[in-house]
Amino acid sequence: MNPSCTLHIGFDDTDSPEGMCTTFLAYKIVDYLKKQDSEFLDFPWLIRFNPNIPWKTRGNGAVSLKIRTKNPIKIKNKIKKLVSKYSDTKNGANPGLVFYEQKTIPSNFTEFSELALWQLINRNQAKKFASKNNLEIFFMGNGQGLVGAIGAIGYRFHDHTLELLSYRRPSKFGKERKISSQSVKTMQDKTFPYTFNSFDNKKSKVLITPHGPDPVFYGVRGERVDTLLSATKILETEEKLAGHMIFKSNQGTNDHLKNTFTKLTLKPYASGIITGVVLQNPTIKKGGHVFFSINCSGDELQCAVYKQTGIASTALGLIKGDKICVGGGLRKASKTFPRVLNLEFIEIVDLKKNMVKSNPICKNCKKSMKSKGQNQGYQCVKCGKTSKNKKNFEIQRKIQKQLYIPEVSAHRHLSRPMTRIGRINKKSDFDESSLWFSLYEN
Ligand SMILES: [Zn+2]
Repeated sequence: MNPSCTLHIGFDDTDSPEGMCTTFLAYKIVDYLKKQDSEFLDFPWLIRFNPNIPWKTRGNGAVSLKIRTKNPIKIKNKIKKLVSKYSDTKNGANPGLVFYEQKTIPSNFTEFSELALWQLINRNQAKKFASKNNLEIFFMGNGQGLVGAIGAIGYRFHDHTLELLSYRRPSKFGKERKISSQSVKTMQDKTFPYTFNSFDNKKSKVLITPHGPDPVFYGVRGERVDTLLSATKILETEEKLAGHMIFKSNQGTNDHLKNTFTKLTLKPYASGIITGVVLQNPTIKKGGHVFFSINCSGDELQCAVYKQTGIASTALGLIKGDKICVGGGLRKASKTFPRVLNLEFIEIVDLKKNMVKSNPICKNCKKSMKSKGQNQGYQCVKCGKTSKNKKNFEIQRKIQKQLYIPEVSAHRHLSRPMTRIGRINKKSDFDESSLWFSLYEN
Protein backbone atom coordinates (compact mmCIF):
# COMPACT_ATOMS: atom_id res chain seq x y z
CA MET A 1 0.00 0.00 0.00
CA ASN A 2 1.19 3.54 -0.75
CA PRO A 3 1.62 5.88 2.19
CA SER A 4 -1.10 8.50 2.27
CA CYS A 5 -0.44 12.07 1.18
CA THR A 6 -2.20 15.35 1.83
CA LEU A 7 -3.77 16.74 -1.31
CA HIS A 8 -5.14 20.25 -1.75
CA ILE A 9 -7.55 20.71 -4.64
CA GLY A 10 -8.65 24.18 -5.77
CA PHE A 11 -11.03 25.14 -8.57
CA ASP A 12 -12.91 28.16 -9.80
CA ASP A 13 -14.82 29.77 -12.64
CA THR A 14 -16.74 26.72 -13.76
CA ASP A 15 -20.10 28.47 -13.87
CA SER A 16 -21.72 31.00 -16.15
CA PRO A 17 -24.82 33.15 -15.83
CA GLU A 18 -26.64 30.46 -17.82
CA GLY A 19 -26.14 27.65 -15.39
CA MET A 20 -24.09 25.27 -13.31
CA CYS A 21 -22.29 26.35 -10.22
CA THR A 22 -18.83 25.79 -8.76
CA THR A 23 -20.31 24.57 -5.47
CA PHE A 24 -22.31 21.90 -7.32
CA LEU A 25 -19.14 20.67 -8.97
CA ALA A 26 -17.62 20.54 -5.46
CA TYR A 27 -20.58 18.46 -4.29
CA LYS A 28 -20.06 16.05 -7.21
CA ILE A 29 -16.33 15.80 -6.48
CA VAL A 30 -16.94 15.18 -2.77
CA ASP A 31 -19.51 12.52 -3.63
CA TYR A 32 -16.84 10.79 -5.71
CA LEU A 33 -14.11 11.20 -3.07
CA LYS A 34 -16.35 9.81 -0.33
CA LYS A 35 -16.44 6.55 -2.27
CA GLN A 36 -12.64 6.50 -2.71
CA ASP A 37 -11.57 5.88 0.83
CA SER A 38 -10.11 9.36 1.16
CA GLU A 39 -10.15 11.22 4.43
CA PHE A 40 -11.45 14.79 4.57
CA LEU A 41 -9.37 17.10 6.74
CA ASP A 42 -11.86 19.98 6.81
CA PHE A 43 -15.12 21.15 5.28
CA PRO A 44 -14.90 22.13 1.63
CA TRP A 45 -13.91 25.78 1.59
CA LEU A 46 -15.97 28.32 -0.32
CA ILE A 47 -13.84 31.42 -0.61
CA ARG A 48 -15.28 34.63 -2.01
CA PHE A 49 -12.76 36.94 -3.63
CA ASN A 50 -12.89 40.61 -4.62
CA PRO A 51 -16.56 41.20 -5.54
CA ASN A 52 -15.70 44.29 -7.56
CA ILE A 53 -13.83 42.75 -10.48
CA PRO A 54 -15.54 43.11 -13.85
CA TRP A 55 -15.27 39.55 -15.17
CA LYS A 56 -16.43 37.68 -12.08
CA THR A 57 -18.96 34.94 -12.48
CA ARG A 58 -21.75 35.92 -10.11
CA GLY A 59 -20.34 35.79 -6.58
CA ASN A 60 -16.67 35.31 -7.47
CA GLY A 61 -16.46 32.21 -5.28
CA ALA A 62 -13.79 29.52 -5.53
CA VAL A 63 -13.67 26.15 -3.78
CA SER A 64 -10.85 24.15 -2.25
CA LEU A 65 -10.74 20.69 -0.67
CA LYS A 66 -8.14 19.19 1.63
CA ILE A 67 -7.95 15.42 1.81
CA ARG A 68 -5.65 12.58 2.73
CA THR A 69 -5.42 9.88 0.08
CA LYS A 70 -3.33 6.89 -0.93
CA ASN A 71 -4.13 7.24 -4.58
CA PRO A 72 -3.60 10.84 -5.69
CA ILE A 73 -3.01 10.03 -9.36
CA LYS A 74 -6.31 8.26 -9.85
CA ILE A 75 -8.15 10.99 -7.94
CA LYS A 76 -6.59 13.81 -9.92
CA ASN A 77 -7.53 12.20 -13.22
CA LYS A 78 -11.11 11.73 -12.17
CA ILE A 79 -11.40 15.29 -10.87
CA LYS A 80 -10.09 16.66 -14.16
CA LYS A 81 -12.85 14.76 -15.90
CA LEU A 82 -15.48 16.06 -13.50
CA VAL A 83 -14.29 19.64 -13.97
CA SER A 84 -14.56 19.25 -17.76
CA LYS A 85 -17.98 17.68 -17.49
CA TYR A 86 -19.53 20.17 -15.07
CA SER A 87 -18.02 23.40 -16.39
CA ASP A 88 -20.17 25.64 -18.51
CA THR A 89 -17.40 26.56 -20.96
CA LYS A 90 -19.92 26.96 -23.81
CA ASN A 91 -21.38 29.93 -21.96
CA GLY A 92 -18.16 31.62 -21.05
CA ALA A 93 -16.79 29.74 -18.02
CA ASN A 94 -12.97 29.71 -17.82
CA PRO A 95 -12.30 26.93 -15.32
CA GLY A 96 -9.05 26.55 -13.45
CA LEU A 97 -8.03 23.52 -11.39
CA VAL A 98 -4.96 23.29 -9.14
CA PHE A 99 -3.49 20.37 -7.18
CA TYR A 100 -0.97 20.83 -4.41
CA GLU A 101 0.47 17.80 -2.67
CA GLN A 102 1.96 19.07 0.60
CA LYS A 103 0.86 19.05 4.18
CA THR A 104 1.37 22.74 4.77
CA ILE A 105 0.76 25.73 2.53
CA PRO A 106 3.74 28.04 1.94
CA SER A 107 3.26 31.70 2.84
CA ASN A 108 3.51 32.96 -0.76
CA PHE A 109 0.25 31.07 -1.46
CA THR A 110 -1.39 32.96 1.35
CA GLU A 111 -0.04 36.26 0.08
CA PHE A 112 -1.44 35.53 -3.38
CA SER A 113 -4.80 34.70 -1.82
CA GLU A 114 -4.88 37.84 0.30
CA LEU A 115 -4.24 40.04 -2.72
CA ALA A 116 -7.04 38.35 -4.69
CA LEU A 117 -9.43 39.37 -1.91
CA TRP A 118 -9.26 43.03 -2.78
CA GLN A 119 -7.19 43.55 -5.92
CA LEU A 120 -7.53 42.81 -9.56
CA ILE A 121 -5.35 39.75 -10.23
CA ASN A 122 -5.16 38.66 -13.83
CA ARG A 123 -4.74 35.17 -15.19
CA ASN A 124 -1.15 35.74 -16.29
CA GLN A 125 -0.14 36.48 -12.72
CA ALA A 126 -1.76 33.17 -11.73
CA LYS A 127 -0.01 31.25 -14.50
CA LYS A 128 3.32 32.76 -13.51
CA PHE A 129 2.71 31.84 -9.88
CA ALA A 130 1.86 28.28 -10.89
CA SER A 131 5.01 27.73 -12.93
CA LYS A 132 7.24 29.38 -10.34
CA ASN A 133 5.88 27.11 -7.63
CA ASN A 134 5.62 23.93 -9.71
CA LEU A 135 1.89 23.62 -9.25
CA GLU A 136 -0.07 21.02 -11.14
CA ILE A 137 -2.60 23.04 -13.06
CA PHE A 138 -5.34 22.34 -15.55
CA PHE A 139 -7.47 24.94 -17.23
CA MET A 140 -9.96 25.54 -20.00
CA GLY A 141 -10.86 28.73 -21.86
CA ASN A 142 -8.52 31.54 -20.90
CA GLY A 143 -7.78 30.04 -17.47
CA GLN A 144 -9.10 32.95 -15.44
CA GLY A 145 -10.27 30.39 -12.87
CA LEU A 146 -6.66 29.71 -11.88
CA VAL A 147 -6.67 32.89 -9.78
CA GLY A 148 -9.43 31.61 -7.51
CA ALA A 149 -8.15 28.03 -7.59
CA ILE A 150 -4.75 29.09 -6.23
CA GLY A 151 -6.33 31.62 -3.90
CA ALA A 152 -8.73 29.08 -2.40
CA ILE A 153 -5.87 26.69 -1.58
CA GLY A 154 -3.73 29.47 -0.12
CA TYR A 155 -6.49 31.09 1.90
CA ARG A 156 -5.99 31.39 5.66
CA PHE A 157 -9.03 31.86 7.88
CA HIS A 158 -9.15 34.50 10.61
CA ASP A 159 -12.90 34.23 10.99
CA HIS A 160 -15.38 32.03 9.17
CA THR A 161 -19.01 31.18 8.67
CA LEU A 162 -20.63 28.04 7.33
CA GLU A 163 -23.13 27.67 4.52
CA LEU A 164 -25.32 24.65 3.98
CA LEU A 165 -26.16 24.41 0.30
CA SER A 166 -28.90 22.04 -0.77
CA TYR A 167 -29.05 20.74 -4.32
CA ARG A 168 -31.98 19.89 -6.56
CA ARG A 169 -32.60 16.75 -8.49
CA PRO A 170 -31.59 17.15 -12.15
CA SER A 171 -35.22 16.95 -13.32
CA LYS A 172 -35.86 20.22 -11.42
CA PHE A 173 -32.93 22.24 -12.77
CA GLY A 174 -34.16 25.53 -14.20
CA LYS A 175 -37.66 25.21 -12.69
CA GLU A 176 -39.15 27.62 -10.19
CA ARG A 177 -38.15 27.07 -6.57
CA LYS A 178 -41.14 26.75 -4.25
CA ILE A 179 -40.53 27.18 -0.54
CA SER A 180 -42.85 28.27 2.25
CA SER A 181 -41.76 31.77 3.16
CA GLN A 182 -43.35 31.34 6.59
CA SER A 183 -41.04 28.36 7.19
CA VAL A 184 -38.00 30.48 6.30
CA LYS A 185 -39.11 33.19 8.71
CA THR A 186 -39.70 30.61 11.47
CA MET A 187 -36.31 29.07 10.78
CA GLN A 188 -34.62 32.45 11.08
CA ASP A 189 -36.39 33.25 14.34
CA LYS A 190 -35.62 29.85 15.86
CA THR A 191 -31.96 29.77 14.90
CA PHE A 192 -31.07 33.41 15.67
CA PRO A 193 -28.23 34.47 16.04
CA TYR A 194 -26.57 31.33 14.67
CA THR A 195 -27.88 31.81 11.14
CA PHE A 196 -28.01 35.07 9.20
CA ASN A 197 -29.49 36.75 6.13
CA SER A 198 -32.21 34.15 5.53
CA PHE A 199 -35.27 36.36 5.53
CA ASP A 200 -35.80 40.08 5.09
CA ASN A 201 -38.45 40.94 7.67
CA LYS A 202 -38.90 44.46 6.31
CA LYS A 203 -39.72 43.31 2.80
CA SER A 204 -41.07 39.85 3.76
CA LYS A 205 -38.64 38.39 1.31
CA VAL A 206 -36.93 34.98 1.25
CA LEU A 207 -33.17 35.43 0.84
CA ILE A 208 -31.93 31.83 0.85
CA THR A 209 -33.00 30.80 -2.64
CA PRO A 210 -31.08 31.86 -5.74
CA HIS A 211 -33.03 32.89 -8.82
CA GLY A 212 -30.90 31.53 -11.62
CA PRO A 213 -30.98 28.13 -13.31
CA ASP A 214 -28.19 26.68 -11.17
CA PRO A 215 -28.69 23.41 -9.21
CA VAL A 216 -28.75 25.06 -5.76
CA PHE A 217 -32.15 25.06 -4.09
CA TYR A 218 -31.24 27.06 -1.00
CA GLY A 219 -28.23 28.15 1.02
CA VAL A 220 -28.47 28.68 4.78
CA ARG A 221 -25.66 30.69 6.30
CA GLY A 222 -24.65 30.40 9.89
CA GLU A 223 -22.10 29.67 12.53
CA ARG A 224 -22.55 26.03 13.53
CA VAL A 225 -23.17 22.65 11.94
CA ASP A 226 -25.89 21.59 14.38
CA THR A 227 -27.84 24.82 13.81
CA LEU A 228 -27.64 24.48 10.03
CA LEU A 229 -28.81 20.87 10.17
CA SER A 230 -31.75 21.75 12.37
CA ALA A 231 -32.57 24.68 10.07
CA THR A 232 -33.10 22.27 7.16
CA LYS A 233 -35.70 20.41 9.22
CA ILE A 234 -37.75 23.60 9.65
CA LEU A 235 -37.68 24.64 5.98
CA GLU A 236 -40.61 23.41 3.89
CA THR A 237 -39.93 22.95 0.20
CA GLU A 238 -42.39 21.68 -2.38
CA GLU A 239 -39.90 19.38 -4.06
CA LYS A 240 -37.69 16.60 -2.77
CA LEU A 241 -34.06 17.67 -2.75
CA ALA A 242 -31.08 15.59 -3.78
CA GLY A 243 -28.73 16.35 -0.91
CA HIS A 244 -26.67 18.99 0.82
CA MET A 245 -23.13 19.98 1.64
CA ILE A 246 -21.77 22.37 4.27
CA PHE A 247 -19.00 24.74 3.23
CA LYS A 248 -16.65 26.70 5.44
CA SER A 249 -16.49 30.21 4.07
CA ASN A 250 -15.32 33.78 4.44
CA GLN A 251 -18.86 34.96 3.63
CA GLY A 252 -20.23 37.45 6.13
CA THR A 253 -16.77 38.50 7.33
CA ASN A 254 -16.09 41.73 5.36
CA ASP A 255 -12.92 39.99 4.23
CA HIS A 256 -12.58 42.16 1.10
CA LEU A 257 -12.53 45.34 3.15
CA LYS A 258 -9.37 44.76 5.16
CA ASN A 259 -7.24 46.89 2.86
CA THR A 260 -6.93 50.54 3.84
CA PHE A 261 -6.64 52.52 0.62
CA THR A 262 -3.58 54.63 0.01
CA LYS A 263 -2.67 56.69 -3.03
CA LEU A 264 -0.95 53.60 -4.45
CA THR A 265 -3.80 51.17 -3.91
CA LEU A 266 -6.65 53.36 -5.15
CA LYS A 267 -6.75 51.39 -8.38
CA PRO A 268 -9.67 50.41 -10.60
CA TYR A 269 -11.72 47.49 -9.20
CA ALA A 270 -9.84 47.43 -5.90
CA SER A 271 -11.83 47.07 -2.67
CA GLY A 272 -10.98 48.66 0.64
CA ILE A 273 -11.70 51.28 3.23
CA ILE A 274 -10.69 54.91 3.58
CA THR A 275 -11.27 57.78 6.00
CA GLY A 276 -11.93 61.29 4.81
CA VAL A 277 -13.78 64.53 5.28
CA VAL A 278 -16.92 65.30 3.27
CA LEU A 279 -16.14 68.08 0.79
CA GLN A 280 -19.64 69.22 -0.11
CA ASN A 281 -23.21 68.46 0.82
CA PRO A 282 -24.25 65.29 -1.07
CA THR A 283 -26.59 65.44 -4.02
CA ILE A 284 -29.28 62.98 -4.98
CA LYS A 285 -29.53 62.01 -8.64
CA LYS A 286 -32.12 60.32 -10.81
CA GLY A 287 -32.95 56.88 -9.44
CA GLY A 288 -32.32 57.93 -5.85
CA HIS A 289 -28.55 57.42 -5.88
CA VAL A 290 -26.48 59.80 -3.76
CA PHE A 291 -23.12 61.31 -4.71
CA PHE A 292 -20.52 63.33 -2.85
CA SER A 293 -16.77 63.53 -2.55
CA ILE A 294 -14.37 63.30 0.35
CA ASN A 295 -10.94 64.65 1.04
CA CYS A 296 -8.49 61.90 1.99
CA SER A 297 -5.17 63.39 3.03
CA GLY A 298 -5.31 65.97 0.25
CA ASP A 299 -6.82 63.81 -2.49
CA GLU A 300 -10.39 64.11 -3.61
CA LEU A 301 -12.36 60.91 -3.97
CA GLN A 302 -15.85 60.63 -5.45
CA CYS A 303 -18.28 58.40 -3.56
CA ALA A 304 -21.56 56.89 -4.74
CA VAL A 305 -24.28 55.29 -2.64
CA TYR A 306 -26.86 53.34 -4.60
CA LYS A 307 -30.49 53.50 -3.60
CA GLN A 308 -30.87 49.73 -3.26
CA THR A 309 -28.28 49.64 -0.45
CA GLY A 310 -30.78 51.35 1.81
CA ILE A 311 -28.09 53.72 3.10
CA ALA A 312 -28.57 56.44 0.48
CA SER A 313 -30.69 58.43 2.94
CA THR A 314 -27.86 58.22 5.49
CA ALA A 315 -25.47 59.55 2.85
CA LEU A 316 -27.89 62.34 2.04
CA GLY A 317 -27.79 63.36 5.70
CA LEU A 318 -24.06 64.10 5.53
CA ILE A 319 -22.80 67.67 5.33
CA LYS A 320 -19.56 69.34 4.41
CA GLY A 321 -16.98 68.78 7.13
CA ASP A 322 -18.26 65.43 8.47
CA LYS A 323 -15.52 62.89 9.02
CA ILE A 324 -16.39 59.40 7.80
CA CYS A 325 -14.81 56.01 7.22
CA VAL A 326 -16.21 54.27 4.16
CA GLY A 327 -15.62 51.01 2.36
CA GLY A 328 -16.40 49.57 -1.03
CA GLY A 329 -15.14 48.97 -4.54
CA LEU A 330 -13.60 51.44 -6.96
CA ARG A 331 -15.22 51.86 -10.33
CA LYS A 332 -12.90 52.70 -13.16
CA ALA A 333 -13.02 56.24 -14.53
CA SER A 334 -14.69 56.65 -17.92
CA LYS A 335 -14.77 59.54 -20.37
CA THR A 336 -17.81 61.02 -18.66
CA PHE A 337 -17.33 59.90 -15.05
CA PRO A 338 -14.40 60.17 -12.67
CA ARG A 339 -13.21 57.23 -10.61
CA VAL A 340 -15.93 56.46 -8.05
CA LEU A 341 -15.95 54.48 -4.82
CA ASN A 342 -19.22 52.52 -4.55
CA LEU A 343 -19.95 52.46 -0.85
CA GLU A 344 -20.81 49.30 1.06
CA PHE A 345 -20.89 50.96 4.47
CA ILE A 346 -20.58 54.38 6.07
CA GLU A 347 -19.16 54.78 9.53
CA ILE A 348 -19.56 58.26 10.92
CA VAL A 349 -16.46 59.25 12.83
CA ASP A 350 -17.31 62.87 13.54
CA LEU A 351 -20.35 65.01 12.85
CA LYS A 352 -20.09 68.68 12.19
CA LYS A 353 -22.59 71.03 13.80
CA ASN A 354 -25.08 71.98 11.10
CA MET A 355 -25.22 75.75 11.41
CA VAL A 356 -27.38 77.86 9.14
CA LYS A 357 -27.69 81.62 8.89
CA SER A 358 -31.24 82.85 9.01
CA ASN A 359 -33.22 86.02 9.66
CA PRO A 360 -33.16 86.93 13.37
CA ILE A 361 -36.17 86.18 15.60
CA CYS A 362 -37.84 88.99 17.49
CA LYS A 363 -37.43 88.30 21.23
CA ASN A 364 -40.73 89.96 22.10
CA CYS A 365 -42.97 88.45 19.45
CA LYS A 366 -41.06 85.20 18.73
CA LYS A 367 -41.49 85.93 15.04
CA SER A 368 -38.94 85.91 12.26
CA MET A 369 -37.87 89.46 11.28
CA LYS A 370 -38.12 90.64 7.71
CA SER A 371 -35.28 92.08 5.65
CA LYS A 372 -35.46 95.82 5.10
CA GLY A 373 -33.50 95.55 1.84
CA GLN A 374 -29.94 94.83 0.91
CA ASN A 375 -27.53 95.71 3.76
CA GLN A 376 -30.26 97.52 5.68
CA GLY A 377 -30.82 94.99 8.46
CA TYR A 378 -33.97 93.29 9.69
CA GLN A 379 -37.12 94.44 11.38
CA CYS A 380 -40.05 92.84 13.20
CA VAL A 381 -43.22 93.66 11.31
CA LYS A 382 -45.27 93.45 14.52
CA CYS A 383 -43.37 95.61 17.05
CA GLY A 384 -40.80 97.35 14.88
CA LYS A 385 -37.71 96.03 16.73
CA THR A 386 -34.65 95.95 14.45
CA SER A 387 -31.49 93.85 14.15
CA LYS A 388 -28.40 94.32 11.97
CA ASN A 389 -27.32 90.82 11.01
CA LYS A 390 -28.57 87.35 10.24
CA LYS A 391 -28.25 84.91 13.14
CA ASN A 392 -26.68 81.45 13.33
CA PHE A 393 -28.96 78.54 14.14
CA GLU A 394 -28.03 74.94 14.79
CA ILE A 395 -30.07 72.33 12.94
CA GLN A 396 -30.43 68.95 14.60
CA ARG A 397 -28.52 66.25 12.64
CA LYS A 398 -30.56 63.30 11.40
CA ILE A 399 -27.65 60.87 11.47
CA GLN A 400 -25.50 59.75 14.36
CA LYS A 401 -21.92 58.77 15.09
CA GLN A 402 -22.34 55.08 14.25
CA LEU A 403 -21.89 52.44 11.60
CA TYR A 404 -24.47 52.28 8.81
CA ILE A 405 -24.60 49.10 6.73
CA PRO A 406 -26.85 48.17 3.80
CA GLU A 407 -30.24 46.56 4.17
CA VAL A 408 -30.08 42.81 4.44
CA SER A 409 -31.43 42.24 0.90
CA ALA A 410 -28.64 44.43 -0.51
CA HIS A 411 -25.90 42.44 1.21
CA ARG A 412 -23.16 40.90 -0.83
CA HIS A 413 -21.73 37.48 -0.01
CA LEU A 414 -18.88 39.05 1.92
CA SER A 415 -20.87 41.74 3.75
CA ARG A 416 -20.70 41.37 7.49
CA PRO A 417 -24.28 41.40 8.81
CA MET A 418 -25.24 43.24 12.03
CA THR A 419 -25.59 39.91 13.91
CA ARG A 420 -21.94 39.17 13.14
CA ILE A 421 -20.50 42.49 14.22
CA GLY A 422 -17.99 41.69 16.93
CA ARG A 423 -18.31 37.94 16.34
CA ILE A 424 -15.29 35.95 15.26
CA ASN A 425 -15.31 32.21 14.64
CA LYS A 426 -11.90 30.79 15.28
CA LYS A 427 -12.58 27.17 16.07
CA SER A 428 -13.72 24.92 13.30
CA ASP A 429 -16.12 22.23 14.40
CA PHE A 430 -15.33 19.86 11.57
CA ASP A 431 -16.15 16.25 12.33
CA GLU A 432 -15.84 13.94 9.39
CA SER A 433 -18.58 11.68 10.68
CA SER A 434 -21.14 14.51 10.96
CA LEU A 435 -23.72 15.19 8.26
CA TRP A 436 -21.70 17.96 6.57
CA PHE A 437 -22.29 16.00 3.36
CA SER A 438 -25.49 14.11 2.75
CA LEU A 439 -27.31 12.51 -0.15
CA TYR A 440 -31.00 12.23 0.68
CA GLU A 441 -32.76 8.94 0.16
CA ASN A 442 -35.60 8.65 -2.31
ZN1 LIG B 1 -41.54 91.96 17.52
